[in-house]
Parts: sequence; C-alpha cells; structure tokens
Amino acid sequence: MQPLTDMPMSAPEGGACDGGISLVSALTADEQEIARVMQICNACRYCEGFCAVFPAMTRRLTFDKADTHHLANLCHNCGACLHACQYAPPHEFAVNVPRAMAKVRKRTYQDYAWPASFGRLYQRAGLTVALALAGGLALFLVLAVAMNGKLVHEPLAGNFYAIFPHNFLAVLFSVVFLYAILALAVGVIRFWREMSPSKDADLRDVASISQTRLPAAAESISDVAQLRYLGGGHGDGCNEEDDRFTLWRRRFHHFTLYGFLLCFAATCVATLYHYLLGLHAPYRFSSLPVILGSLGGIGLVIGPVGLLWLNLRRDPQHGDPDQHGMDRGFILLLLLVSLTGFALLLLRDTGFMALWLAIHLGTVMALFLTLPYGKFAHGIFRSAALLKFNIEKRMPNRLGIGGE
Ligand code: SF4
Ligand code: SF4
Repeated sequence: MQPLTDMPMSAPEGGACDGGISLVSALTADEQEIARVMQICNACRYCEGFCAVFPAMTRRLTFDKADTHHLANLCHNCGACLHACQYAPPHEFAVNVPRAMAKVRKRTYQDYAWPASFGRLYQRAGLTVALALAGGLALFLVLAVAMNGKLVHEPLAGNFYAIFPHNFLAVLFSVVFLYAILALAVGVIRFWREMSPSKDADLRDVASISQTRLPAAAESISDVAQLRYLGGGHGDGCNEEDDRFTLWRRRFHHFTLYGFLLCFAATCVATLYHYLLGLHAPYRFSSLPVILGSLGGIGLVIGPVGLLWLNLRRDPQHGDPDQHGMDRGFILLLLLVSLTGFALLLLRDTGFMALWLAIHLGTVMALFLTLPYGKFAHGIFRSAALLKFNIEKRMPNRLGIGGE
C-alpha cells in the first residue's frame, strides 16, 4: 500500500487524468475524485467502521468506473467521515468523501435513466418537480371543470367518483405508475449490470445461492428497513450542522419511508375492497384504507418537514450544493401529497370536494411522473448497492489486506 505522502493530494481539474491514479483514464473528473480520496482513505482507514463504503473500499487498490458508481451509491451522506477526517479541507489533501460520492451518485441516476434522454431531467430536478406539479394541477383542475362544469358544488357525501369516474382514475394512474416502475427497474438493472458481482469470477465459481445471495438479500432488506448506515457506524447517528451526532435524520427518513409504504398499502387495500369485495369509496374514517392512509399521511408530514428542517441547517460542506433543488423539491412534493390528502379527507363532505380532489390528484400525478427522474431513485440505487456489498463481503477477499 502507498504511504499517504505519495497520494495525489488535490482534486483533478477537468476531465484529464494527470497520471497520479492508475486505471482512471476513462473516468470523469468527479469519478477521478472518488478514486483519489479512496486511495487516501485506503492508506488511512480511520473510518473503517463508519459505513459500508470503507469495507468495500478495502477490497480494492484501484477504482474503476463501476467501483466509483458502487461506492457512490453505498454512501448515505451521513457526514461522519467528513467530521472525523484529519485530511478534510483546509488540509491540502482536501478529502471530502460525502461530497465526492454525492456528485457521482447523482450522475449515476442520470446515466442509467430510461429512456436515456430523460436522464437530463436530473440536471434540473427541482425544475422538473415544479413543472410536473404545475402540469398535474392544471390537468386535473381542467378535467374537473370539463367533466362537471364547476369546481364548487353541492355536497356529494364524499363520492369522488361523481367527479372523476373510477375506471378513468384507475386506468390513468395505473398506466403512469407502471411506467414509473418500469423506468426505475430498467435504470437499476443497467446500474446492476455494470457493477454486478456476476462479472466477478469468484462469484460465478464459488458462490452458491444459499450461501451468498439469499443471506445477502435478507441482510440488505434489514439494512434498508433499519436505515442502518444512517447510524454513523456507532449507532449515535449522523453529523448535521456540526460535530455532534444526531439520530433525527434516520428518524425522519423512517417516518417518510414507512409513511410512503402505509399510503401505498392503503391504496392496495382500497383496490382489493373495490374489486374483490365490491365495497366502493368513500370509506368510513374507521375503515382500514382510511386508517392506513391517515397513518401514512402523518408519517409523510412529520418525515418531510423534519428532513427539510435538517436539510436547511446542514453543514454546507456535506454533499453537493447543486443537488438542493432535487432534494428539497422531492421533500416538498411528498409533503404536498400528504397535506392535500388530509385536506381532501376533511373536506370531502363539503362543496369543495372537487377542488381538493383535483389538487390532490394533481400532486399525486406529479409524484408518480417524477419517481424515475428525481430523488426517489436514491432509495432504489442504494438498495442495489447494498445488495452488491452484502454479496461481495461473503466472497473471499482476494487482496487479503483488510476487510469487513
Ligand atoms: S475520510 Fe479521512 S479520516 Fe476517514 S479514512 Fe478517509 S482519509 Fe482517513
Ligand atoms: S458520509 Fe457517511 S455514509 Fe458516506 S462514506 Fe462517509 S461515513 Fe460513509
């Protein structure tokens, strides 16, 4: 291993390789920066226990494009390694791992997006959310007027389908949602193929499904469910605005994640009620779809409000400042979905139901449309990166000089 004094000290300029890092000729400037800081970290290893990035790093001496993409998506941007680093700015080594990872992470969403031309939407993700929201609201407000002649009406006892027919909504949202799932699936499959352990001869020859992939998948699900790597490696949490640790980022992520899943569960249960049991909306406040949706909605208020609060207070050295629009746009959209959902629930028996139904459906449509081209992708790509990590760590370490 190289001594630290032999390491390339400063970030590369432009896209040219200066020869200080091997096997990087095809790397972009941002990918070269990951390779540079990882070579310094590989010699230092102070942060080895912080997260999955460092054990994955110790299996490599050089970092090719696929490695930088894998490591970038393993990083949870918890900030721990920046606040612990003796080589962080203003040191001449200028090691800022979370920023290097964040820049390449966003680029992976863009490069693997499907269709490829839509990847450009990540460059202006905040604007993409704003346009999708404007389009979604305009669409449903215009449709409500076109179908009903007005937005304010006599109370309809919460009967949404008097405004928009059930089959119309079911077909429209199914098509958009299935498109979003397809686009995300194609993107993450492309990502997986590039960094896949299947190109690793060890895995093809040695690994059996029962010894590696199944336990790795189970551990990855557990990592995602717990958001394990938002614990900072010691369980005390992330660094936010300073050197103090806090678990609030993990807690607000949990509210958001489980809120989203509960809202999805409410939609699934309502679909089963409609098609299997012949029970049609509106459902009582005490019904399972409304209870699940309300609990999910509470999670999608607390989580996004908390994440926005933390985001606004974060140390500016964390992550990539160019991504504030993507982060905050997604957080605000989730918050709008939950708030308009509650407004609709509370006003569904009044003459304002059509107005609030159109507003709520417009925000949900914007969310669905931007799922494959915004911050939502980070959960999918990070889960894939964790699976790769958990498979890889069950394989022999061919370097034999460190590990997890
Ligand atoms: S981030 Fe800094 S302290 Fe941590 S391993 Fe890298 S060089 Fe060492
Ligand atoms: S910011 Fe956190 S998750 Fe990312 S590499 Fe550093 S310690 Fe790991």
